Amino acid sequence: MKTIDKAYINGEFVTPKGTEYFDLISPTTNEKLGQVLLGNIEDTQNAIAAAKEAFKTFSKTSIAERIKYLQNIQTSIEKRKEAFINVMIEEYGGTFQFSSISYEYMLKGLESTINLLSTYKFNKTMGKSEVQMTPIGVVGIIIPWNSSNSFICSKLATAIAAGCTTVIKPSEMSAQQTELITECLHEAGLPKGVFNIVNGLGEIVGAEISRNPDIAKISFTGSTNVGKIIAKEAINTMKRITLELGGKSPNIILDDADFSKAIPMAIIAAYMNSGQACIAATRLLIPENRLEEVKTLVKETISNTIVGDPKNETTNIGPMVSKKQYERVQNYIQIGINEGAEILTGGLGKPQGLEKGNFVKPTVFTNVNNQMRITREEIFGPVLSILTYKTEEEAIEIANDTTYGLQAYVSSSNEKRAHTIASQINAGRVLINGLGHDPMAPFGGFKQSGIGREFGILGLEAYLEPKALIK
Ligand code: NAD
Repeated sequence: MKTIDKAYINGEFVTPKGTEYFDLISPTTNEKLGQVLLGNIEDTQNAIAAAKEAFKTFSKTSIAERIKYLQNIQTSIEKRKEAFINVMIEEYGGTFQFSSISYEYMLKGLESTINLLSTYKFNKTMGKSEVQMTPIGVVGIIIPWNSSNSFICSKLATAIAAGCTTVIKPSEMSAQQTELITECLHEAGLPKGVFNIVNGLGEIVGAEISRNPDIAKISFTGSTNVGKIIAKEAINTMKRITLELGGKSPNIILDDADFSKAIPMAIIAAYMNSGQACIAATRLLIPENRLEEVKTLVKETISNTIVGDPKNETTNIGPMVSKKQYERVQNYIQIGINEGAEILTGGLGKPQGLEKGNFVKPTVFTNVNNQMRITREEIFGPVLSILTYKTEEEAIEIANDTTYGLQAYVSSSNEKRAHTIASQINAGRVLINGLGHDPMAPFGGFKQSGIGREFGILGLEAYLEPKALIK
């Protein structure tokens, strides 16, 4: 059994001062994989002090040097493809398919940050003045358990590009994944203190990052509830915040769409990462008069969807990350039943033969309306609701009738029509006819899906403070 008992502070692997251990449990078998020694407030303060000291020099590094560091990170990650995919499968239950995509996207994100950095103008002219885009300071990076290494990589790469230093708090559940990326970052030869990583609980390590006056900005990805706690704490010292929070993404299928393609894609979009995705398309909106046809296509698609061992290359849906998450999803399925929704496929309990792990039956509800808890709250599991609309206007109204606004999807054979609808949806990203990816496009939420944007120029500028020199 593995024990992870190292934090990374000031360029060294150190034993945390904390004394509590957290068990790492396999989502696939519920067997104990190992344990992680959790850091405490003192560890967090040491990490912040190291980042503060490092900022004095790192904020002045040349663009060429920053590019070199990012390229070194790229090289170390590229060397460990199998390790990255395997640890995500083992510790997190990410399917082979999803873990492979996540790995590729991590590298694409790095590449686009390097490209952006080589062209970005840190000195601009606005009006008659010179505007210097200066690094913001020490950034606290707080990460959830889903795709944790991709988030560490993209946020840290942006911080390095901006000339900032960082203190990273990953989810304690991702300790083995964190150990791997820490090894890569160490190998990349970054100056000491530029990145510091402390495993620990949100209420301890995360809370210290949120309140410590030496943290200038927080980049957080996680739930809307925790985002609100962090924002309240951060405002006391006027920290800048980027919050990437939850979602309840609508997927509007227009009557002229090719249903034989759009419906299978809708299932992929709903169940990506086994449904544990902030951008999962969990509300499928279809024309009312096409309901029967959609039901048949959905059932057919799900009968070909493989739930099972995440390491099998053909598996589409793996286990939930933890027993707690499994129970949360079961609870929502029960809520849907209590609310009077009908189960088209799936339902309560584990799929046959998969009783040991945290597996959920891919579930689809019909006979739902947009006021039910299952259509309003983020479930974070493979649970899809089918809603019907009579007119385009109604489809847009339902799509926008949510407290969230992270991502949306539209399918139509008429691109202009899809575009017109996409323009009326209140979401940070709208994917038209497919599951396109653009690492340079801004990513972030309207409404309670967050504050600020990541990726591309807007993402970089969120780590920079503009300073106008007026003559
Ligand atoms: P979570 O909000 O419970 O935890 C996220 C991180 O915050 C963890 O590291 C946790 O330890 C820490 N934390 C918890 N309490 C804290 C506190 N009081 N102060 C500071 N830090 C604290 O989220 P989770 O369950 O790990 O992840 C799932 C959630 O993340 C979902 O809601 C999902 O939508 C969201 N998410 C959003 C995006 C996005 O880009 N918008 C991406 C992935 C996940």
